[in-house]
Amino acid sequence: MCKRVLCVPLALGVALVLAGCSTTLSPSPASTAVPEPTNLTVRKQQVAGYVNSGEYGREIARVALEANKFLTKQAPRLAAEGKKIAVVFDIDDTTLTNYPHILANDFGSSSKIWAAWVAEGRAHAIIPVQTVYDTALRLKLAVFFITGRTESERLSTEKNLRDVGYEAWTGIYCQPDDYKGTTRAFKTGVRRKLVAEGHVILANIGDQASDLEGGRAERTFKLPNPFYLTE
Ligand SMILES: [Mg+2]
Repeated sequence: MCKRVLCVPLALGVALVLAGCSTTLSPSPASTAVPEPTNLTVRKQQVAGYVNSGEYGREIARVALEANKFLTKQAPRLAAEGKKIAVVFDIDDTTLTNYPHILANDFGSSSKIWAAWVAEGRAHAIIPVQTVYDTALRLKLAVFFITGRTESERLSTEKNLRDVGYEAWTGIYCQPDDYKGTTRAFKTGVRRKLVAEGHVILANIGDQASDLEGGRAERTFKLPNPFYLTE
């Protein structure tokens, strides 16, 4: 009798221990949960810190210096071969900075807010990239801007470029207003056309992978852009 009474709590204890082991061995719900992304406010502070610390500007200057050296070294060789040499620039956050607009809108935007900013035409030049543009002109290379901006934004864009010192170019390609494809496909198509017309695109400079991927350039130069992504 006594032996049997003692066995009951013992059995219960063993069961509880096993239950505990079972809990320990099985993955807890917490361990399989997707980690919480970094808080958006913290991310914004990190991006602003990257700009304010000067790192963003230094990286732009480093890439622009590479592009200047490359053009200065390679263009004379191709020119001596009688090649029609071109350099392709993206516009937004490559030749013109939208950072004041981005900051004023707390890293957000909408098509209406963006259209108003483009229409104002007050974006400043990104000076290190402008030195690459100046190098291209000095070497008598054809300068093409290929942009995701639309045809209806062309006039304000051209005025903005001229106002800040981009005063000459061979061509500016804007997306048709009713274009439905990706920026990447549009830009690749324009470069294909330039090459078909006999140009050698010596350098292609942009802040997005969609500016640069798709080939047709001897070398690409990627500027930083921690603010947004364009496909
Ligand atoms: Mg851009």
